[in-house]
Amino acid sequence: MTTLTHSTKEWHARAASLRYETGHFIDGRYVDSAAKGRFTVVNPATGAALCEASAGSAADIDLAVASAKRAFASRVWSRKAPRDRMEILATYSRLLEANVERFALLDTLCMGKPINDMVTIDVPAAAKNFAYFGELVDKIDGTVTATAADAFHYILREPLGVVGCIVPWNYPLLMAAWKVAPALAAGNSVVLKPAEQSPLSGLLMAQLFVEAGGPPGVFNVVNGLGETAGAALALHMDVAKIAFTGSTEIGKQMLIYAGQSNMKRVSLECGGKTPQIFLADLPDIDTAVTYAINGIFGNMGEVCNAGSRLLIDRPIAKQFLARFVERGKDAYRAGDPLDPSTNLGPLVTASHRTRVMNYIARGKSEGARLEFGGNSPELPGSFVNPTLFSGVNNRMTIAQEEIFGPVAAAIEVNGIDEALQVANDSIYGLAASVWTRDLTVAHKTVRDLEAGVIWVNCFDHGDMTQPFGGYKQSGQGRDKCVESLISYTQTKSAWINLG
Ligand code: NAD
Repeated sequence: MTTLTHSTKEWHARAASLRYETGHFIDGRYVDSAAKGRFTVVNPATGAALCEASAGSAADIDLAVASAKRAFASRVWSRKAPRDRMEILATYSRLLEANVERFALLDTLCMGKPINDMVTIDVPAAAKNFAYFGELVDKIDGTVTATAADAFHYILREPLGVVGCIVPWNYPLLMAAWKVAPALAAGNSVVLKPAEQSPLSGLLMAQLFVEAGGPPGVFNVVNGLGETAGAALALHMDVAKIAFTGSTEIGKQMLIYAGQSNMKRVSLECGGKTPQIFLADLPDIDTAVTYAINGIFGNMGEVCNAGSRLLIDRPIAKQFLARFVERGKDAYRAGDPLDPSTNLGPLVTASHRTRVMNYIARGKSEGARLEFGGNSPELPGSFVNPTLFSGVNNRMTIAQEEIFGPVAAAIEVNGIDEALQVANDSIYGLAASVWTRDLTVAHKTVRDLEAGVIWVNCFDHGDMTQPFGGYKQSGQGRDKCVESLISYTQTKSAWINLG
């Protein structure tokens, strides 16, 4: 694990002297927007403007897609010897890790994530993505099928061409890595459109790819607003696939864009309302409570698989809630995200804080009991304190809609049957967990939960082999894992007549 032992003062000094680019990265160099448009990036911890980033329009997307298309057609990357591609991706992975400090500062300044999370979680995980997919480059084979003697049939697995990656702001570097790493490993060229709240780390990613030996034009970045730059990319006739992570609402829009343009492939990682089921026979209540607290308050609750619904078996509900209140109300303390001891930064924008506060008001008005939180600390940024509602009914708004903030909804249930019914009563199906000592119940619950990722007696554990993605309106397609790499390829079947 990466360790950096800077004090708060040192992090601030480094932030003050940090140099970074704000243009687009096209064809291996930084360029301004064709129309010279810019948008303001705000540091949510202070509310102050951080920089003016280039605002891409359809013209900038055209340039980036043309660059990616040229690079793909030239075969400089798509047909590079697998070993050479693997070496570049391995070098690149190490370069990402070596730049941990710059990446940590860029994402923390843009979206308020605690610097310690960037150093210990986001940057190492992003580097690991490129290492993992780089290692897979020469492990993806075509096949020869069984045929009659008069034919020889083989199936090639080829890259798609230009892949557009559209990502959110909650893990800016890591969500980009989840898309870009398998796309590049499969031999595609990429145009990345980061979220407008966090446009800076994607640029550094693309720059370092070239420094690692990646050919210019293979990895391009255009920043800008979703409805302009994002839409232009998703509607582009020369883009073969859109790999999207973001809200369910905009995910649906991606499918429309594909239909309105060239029937491009679309993979979607969207929202969630993850249930954690705590049965009366769980192995250890203190461990379970710790996971429940971290599962909803980590990363300010701005996590697609945040464990936002706590489904607690009635016999242990009182005890479980008492411990959650006792330990959960002070476990995450709002503070300066550049302080390495801070574990709760601001929400990404002031408008997102308003949205989260509106959900809290809705929870109260619909009759849920506010156990703690529900307010903001006396700090200049867009902070919301960790919040717990008990007495929640699954039909309440706070149990149905994705809040994307540090707000937990505790729902009491009578045994596993009711827990399953409540858990599955959601438009989402990204992740779920069950806590029990009973092996039979655990396996049956895994079978019956409608979710793409399930944890038993833990939460948010996993590694690169684990497919990550959802059932129902949480999306389609999987990140990480071999299946992800395959989804950035297509097959070509060659039937040779030997008769
Ligand atoms: P969002 O949908 O608003 O934006 C995501 C991206 O889409 C951004 O780059 C944005 O600029 C772009 N975009 C917005 N409108 C667009 C449009 N009309 N056309 C084209 N592009 C457009 O989501 P967000 O607020 O940035 O992120 C939060 C959401 O992301 C949450 O719903 C969260 O659950 C989801 N998420 C899911 C996963 C997962 O793996 N399932 C992971 C992280 C975040």
